[in-house]
Amino acid sequence: MRQPIVIGNWKMNGSLLANETLLEALLSSLEELEGVQIAVCPPMPYLAQVKQHLRDYHIVLGAQTLNEHDVGAHTGEVSAAMLKDLGCQYVLVGHSERRSLYGESDLAVTEKFAAAQAAGLVPVLCVGEKLAERQCGDTEAVVARQLQVVIGTLGVEALSGSVIAYEPVWAIGTGETATPDQAQEVHAFIRAWLARHSAPLAARLPLLYGGSVKADNAAALFAQPDIDGGLIGGASLAANSFANICRAAGHH
Ligand code: PEP
Repeated sequence: MRQPIVIGNWKMNGSLLANETLLEALLSSLEELEGVQIAVCPPMPYLAQVKQHLRDYHIVLGAQTLNEHDVGAHTGEVSAAMLKDLGCQYVLVGHSERRSLYGESDLAVTEKFAAAQAAGLVPVLCVGEKLAERQCGDTEAVVARQLQVVIGTLGVEALSGSVIAYEPVWAIGTGETATPDQAQEVHAFIRAWLARHSAPLAARLPLLYGGSVKADNAAALFAQPDIDGGLIGGASLAANSFANICRAAGHH
């Protein structure tokens, strides 16, 4: 049995005051919920603040990205060890906005994945096709390429202790969600592809869906056999929506 996981990606949103308001509402609303691993990924400057709010709760902390180097002359960057030091358990790796807006290549994503793992963080490896790639029928090839770079470089066992998030780029922040069938089809493909490399790993690896998940479509997505939870952007900024999405994950 894979435990459901819901991760909120706040992206570049928030302030000390807004974070406090959001967390207070979220924590009181989710106090009773059990059986779901919940994480929030605030912007870097707020990690310590958010960690402080979470300290008596079972919601854990994540970061949105990291630098692949350990230490040194990388102005503006943040290392895996620093994230660990601040109490992060998860870190997103290869989010499509990092790939497209900040030029992160598959290889850079792999190096970040390795750095996260070496520091004891759980990397959440984000993969997914763009609209044009889907329209050309290349969805599976794109996702397989993004996974292959990681396992070709680090070995399939490197995925152990990680999480994969399938996020079709055309569904991120657009309000256009993959249908439960469309999402399940790619999740099943990912699990079968992984099983060709390691069946036990494929069976236990959590696969999250991300892309305009909302409180009213979450339950149908999470009901799919290969969808183990969600990576939530916009809807994680409203306490009610995020809490309802977390509850939907708990019902499966
Ligand atoms: C994301 O940023 O990972 C995401 C899925 O965003 P949204 O839920 O807003 O589409």
